[in-house]
Amino acid sequence: MPAQTEHTVDPERLIGVLDQPLFQAAERVAARMGVKAYAIGGYVRDLLLGRPCKDIDIVTEGDGIAFAEAVAKELDAGHVHVFKNFGTAMFMLGDVQVEFVGARKESYSRNSRKPEVVPGTIRDDQERRDFTINALAISLNAEDRSALIDPFNGVHDLERGIIRTPLAPDVTFSDDPLRMLRAIRFATQLGFFIDAPTFKAIQRNAERLDIISAERIHTELNKIILAKVPSIGFKLLLDSGLLVRFFPEMIELLGAEEKHGIGHKDNFYHTLQVLDNVAEKSDDLWLRWAAILHDIAKPKTKRFEPGHGWTFHGHEDKGARMVPGIFRRMKLPLDEQMRFVKKMVLLHLRPIALTKDIVTDSAVRRLLFDAGDDIDALMILCQADITSKNEAKKKRYLANYEVVMEKLKEVEEKDRVRNFQPPITGEDIMQAFNIKPCKKIGDIKTVIKDAILDGKIHNDKAAAWPVMLEEGAKLGLTVVEGMEVPPISGSSEEVGSQES
Ligand code: ATP
Ligand code: MG
Repeated sequence: MPAQTEHTVDPERLIGVLDQPLFQAAERVAARMGVKAYAIGGYVRDLLLGRPCKDIDIVTEGDGIAFAEAVAKELDAGHVHVFKNFGTAMFMLGDVQVEFVGARKESYSRNSRKPEVVPGTIRDDQERRDFTINALAISLNAEDRSALIDPFNGVHDLERGIIRTPLAPDVTFSDDPLRMLRAIRFATQLGFFIDAPTFKAIQRNAERLDIISAERIHTELNKIILAKVPSIGFKLLLDSGLLVRFFPEMIELLGAEEKHGIGHKDNFYHTLQVLDNVAEKSDDLWLRWAAILHDIAKPKTKRFEPGHGWTFHGHEDKGARMVPGIFRRMKLPLDEQMRFVKKMVLLHLRPIALTKDIVTDSAVRRLLFDAGDDIDALMILCQADITSKNEAKKKRYLANYEVVMEKLKEVEEKDRVRNFQPPITGEDIMQAFNIKPCKKIGDIKTVIKDAILDGKIHNDKAAAWPVMLEEGAKLGLTVVEGMEVPPISGSSEEVGSQES
């Protein structure tokens, strides 16, 4: 855990901020309506920490919706979105989202899971927040304007970097078990330490996460994954007993077996290392997901082969096939993001395999063809996957990785296979042999594509034409007279670029 004294909390940061029109309008409306209003929660926390914050929460000891509408009117703000069921309302102020709620008391009945919400005081509202650092409020009222209302020593916890619940942790967590996941999310994002009694309560209550929807879980999980060092969160998820509740496949990666004195690496910690490595290079959530899932099928494909050691044959293929099931269960998107992750998992060994061998042009060309526009992402994953503890081995792989990168550039410039367009179309083939659509056309196209990818010919019409004729002849097709040479139209420019 990072040093706990790193976090400087500067109350000076509050001064000036409260002069902004939003807070002045809130103060006027509060005075007029005879209610109290406060800025509260994440906004105050981030303000004190000097972190950027894009949403502001305002709580009033009164009707939150009516309050929001009055403030919006004062500011000439746009449309107010009202969520009657939740008693909340929000509007946008530039790119800042401002949310209003009436202070409330809340208690969940264990049986119904439905919270009973009744109006309350600011103190009640602060008590039902998740952590002391998220329960801080600033007064927007004339009599104690800009006073920090901190009944649970949240500022102290901010300074020390501590995540702690305002009430007894068992109470806070059983009211809303998602808060256990949020504790880990904040610890990961902020580099904070979860207070021991709070962490023990998470371990005790971990099973209660089962009542939380997959959507709420993946929202927090994705925030952990997007943190600067996501492994911090996954280690806490593991130790707390939360991870197994919603991601058992990852738990399976844990452990290193040994047979006849031969071990294999612990794939859980290897995966976390790869994830952190990717996180250093890319903020793409889905590439980070690919890192998490790249070895997910290793436990299912693990074999000990005498004389050879541990193998995980086909784990990339099986892993790719596990992706949809995992995404579906977690209610993650099932369209192009999922297809991207699947593709990354399937291809993740390809560049690595190249770095182990002599790198041939045709292997590089095939890789480019299969990865297409995702080649850069795949290469990030590939480099991140080089985690060998053997420094010499690691150095060799990394050097080869550079060779592959060079080759990729060279081959792409020469052969343009990244977004492969067949140089000869089905239409060309039908005309050349005077045939109707049939399977032979596809066969000829495949032979041409393979010839290009294998480096036998260049990717252009003039080079591919003889291959088409030869393959056609093999298939018993006769060429139309005058078609023995490629048609001039559309091919002149390609012929010109053939010399390389
Ligand atoms: P961020 O916006 O960076 O995700 P945040 O702390 O602002 O962090 P939000 O989810 O926006 O988190 O919630 C705003 C505030 O609402 C929190 O700071 C906290 O006070 C309160 N809050 C949110 N979710 C919960 C919850 N499940 N239980 C209790 N309080 C919560
Ligand atoms: Mg927020």
